[in-house]
Amino acid sequence: MAIRGPRPLVAGNWKMNGTTASLKEARLIAGMLKDVRLRCDVMICPPATLLRRLKGVLAGTPIKLGGQNCHWDASGAFTGEISAEMLKDAGCSAVIVGHSERRSGFGETDAVVRSKADAAHRAGIAAIICIGETLEQRKAGQAVDVVSRQLRESLPDGSASANTVIAYEPVWAIGTGLTPTPDEVGDIHSSIRGGLVAQLGEDGSQVRILYGGSVKPSNAPAFAAIPDVNGALVGGASLKAVDFIGIIKAYI
Ligand code: PEP
Repeated sequence: MAIRGPRPLVAGNWKMNGTTASLKEARLIAGMLKDVRLRCDVMICPPATLLRRLKGVLAGTPIKLGGQNCHWDASGAFTGEISAEMLKDAGCSAVIVGHSERRSGFGETDAVVRSKADAAHRAGIAAIICIGETLEQRKAGQAVDVVSRQLRESLPDGSASANTVIAYEPVWAIGTGLTPTPDEVGDIHSSIRGGLVAQLGEDGSQVRILYGGSVKPSNAPAFAAIPDVNGALVGGASLKAVDFIGIIKAYI
């Protein structure tokens, strides 16, 4: 009997986009998926200001709610920050950590990403840990090495398929319309799989590895067909219901 791979996850990262008006896109997504028997998990990660209201919109649907970032402490004097415990309290089942925009724009190192993933686990939500190489690193033939190092150093003790998702997002593909070839994605995902099994044992084969970077309805089926691609992390295309649904369709 064939061993079944992990259940795919399609997660939308709204980044710093969205006000009350955007809830209508979420209502459309919820409506379109209402009577569909999903064979993948679907998640929306809105800005923190919309978490509560989005939770209301998604009530009664299988669509999950996620945060975009968290602090490593549970509470304290950290003005402007949000803890993983607060995200859980707001209805999140996961949080994105180590997005390249946080690594490059806010100086987040692998050690910081690891402590945030650890915080997510402590709070009882999953960590979606982002890793990926820059264009310079890819051109220098370092993509596999960079991603392997990020994986090794960003995964906290206690990581398991139930509480951890890896998102491979080549930095140069995020929001640019550029994408790696299916072979390039396949090579990286298989090296990530190898790293997960080396670090977590057999359970590493069940950790979901998402591809992210300029995913849209037209290219989603090609990514979905690559071995060890277990879903997508979607930025820009998750802001429009019709595009996000088009991507989800590649997995159902
Ligand atoms: C992202 O920000 O995680 C992302 C993948 O963005 P986009 O889909 O817009 O490239």
